[in-house]
Amino acid sequence: MASLVKLAKSTLRPGIRAISTSLPSASSEVPACGYAFELNDEQKEIQSLARKFTAEEIIPKAAEYDKTMEYPWPIVKKAWEVGLINNHIPSHCGGQGMGVFDICLIAEELAYGCSGVMAAVQITNIGQTPVIIAGNKEQQKKYLGRLIDEPLVAAYCVTEPGAGSDVNGVKTRAEKKGDEWVINGQKMWITNGGVANWYFVLARTNPDPKASASKAFTGFIVERETPGVTPGRKEINMGQRCSDTRGITFEDVRVPKENVLIGEGAGFKIAMGAFDKTRPPVASGATGLAQRALDEATKYALERKAFGVPIAFHQAVAFMLADMAIGVETSRLAWMKSAWEVDQGRRNSYYASIAKALAGDVANKCASDAVQIFGGNGFNSEYPVEKLMRDAKIYQIYEGTAQIQRLIISRAIIDMAKAKA
Ligand SMILES: Cc1cc2nc3c(=O)[nH]c(=O)nc-3n(C[C@H](O)[C@H](O)[C@H](O)COP(=O)(O)OP(=O)(O)OC[C@H]3O[C@@H](n4cnc5c(N)ncnc54)[C@H](O)[C@@H]3O)c2cc1C
Repeated sequence: MASLVKLAKSTLRPGIRAISTSLPSASSEVPACGYAFELNDEQKEIQSLARKFTAEEIIPKAAEYDKTMEYPWPIVKKAWEVGLINNHIPSHCGGQGMGVFDICLIAEELAYGCSGVMAAVQITNIGQTPVIIAGNKEQQKKYLGRLIDEPLVAAYCVTEPGAGSDVNGVKTRAEKKGDEWVINGQKMWITNGGVANWYFVLARTNPDPKASASKAFTGFIVERETPGVTPGRKEINMGQRCSDTRGITFEDVRVPKENVLIGEGAGFKIAMGAFDKTRPPVASGATGLAQRALDEATKYALERKAFGVPIAFHQAVAFMLADMAIGVETSRLAWMKSAWEVDQGRRNSYYASIAKALAGDVANKCASDAVQIFGGNGFNSEYPVEKLMRDAKIYQIYEGTAQIQRLIISRAIIDMAKAKA
């Protein structure tokens, strides 16, 4: 037994956030449980850098960016200077080659300050991910290296006015003409649409409507400055208002064949495969927002008095705080599991959808309960929680709606059951 304990200690996996408090233990021996809920030293440093950045650069400016809806370039540039952006870019392009887990740590902290700013700083990752998972060395050096050399951002262009959840309905088409592809079509709801330096664009390359999705689409890297690329007006959204969301028109846009990812017909798998790496950070962002709602509500509930006592001592309010805490802690565990799975090199779509669905719902519940705990003040923009409620909603919509996540999870359960039968 002693040797097992020793083995367990020596192989403890670093990397899981410390979430337990130090309860007195009956025995001094560490049980060989296989899990270590503790970050390693490097992760603690990343987390504390992101926390400090959030406190100093994001929280004081969040309300103003929410009002003006300006893209937070000064914050994006500072994040670039201190190394809190583009973290997953591989080292051969000059990047840090960070894993998804560590990126999630940053995302949670930034979203605690403002999930709109977090979107501006981090959603460039979803534009980059297709190039990371499917780009060749030259493409990666050229397009990812550029983001390391200068504070620039990328965008992911898949959704269209007529096709969101149903990606197979994408109508933007690309035709091969000599050594080039010519893209025509319209994209919608593109985060960073007006500020990106280059885009990942999914287009139909097989005109046969019966062609399977896994062969009908191709993924392209498209430079923003290519003639024929026209971003539309900045959309005025309910929340995350400083994030830049636009439609983009592609009219006879000529793209060199060198900018095709993998090859003709590989686009759908690349576009969907990116979500395995990008949904965990979206879930961790939602967790950051939920944590903020809990912290704001707890603070207020201890200050605000009704019927002679702080409202925190009314059980109905205290239990709301307890439910918020349950949601925050379980969402955090869910993003951790999904990020850890993909960092181990394993397919994590099931876990990523669980994390995204849970954390999105929890963020909405926590923000709404925080408004409730603030009473009339919660409904007013002088207090921070109405913004949280507006910002939270998008977590149930982008990167796959709450319903689509459940579709993925239920299909996985059914497949697993069939495989066992
Ligand atoms: C602020 C913002 C930023 C975004 N950023 C990007 C981006 O950077 N890049 C990008 O490509 N896209 C982006 N999107 C698009 C986003 O991913 C889509 O809006 C989302 O996938 C839903 O698609 P839709 O809006 O077309 O809704 P629809 O697909 O029309 O869905 C409408 C409703 O029907 C439900 N529904 C649809 N199909 C099913 C089904 N099979 N079963 C059950 N329910 C279903 C949905 O869950 C939803 O409730 C962004 C959107 C917003 C609002």
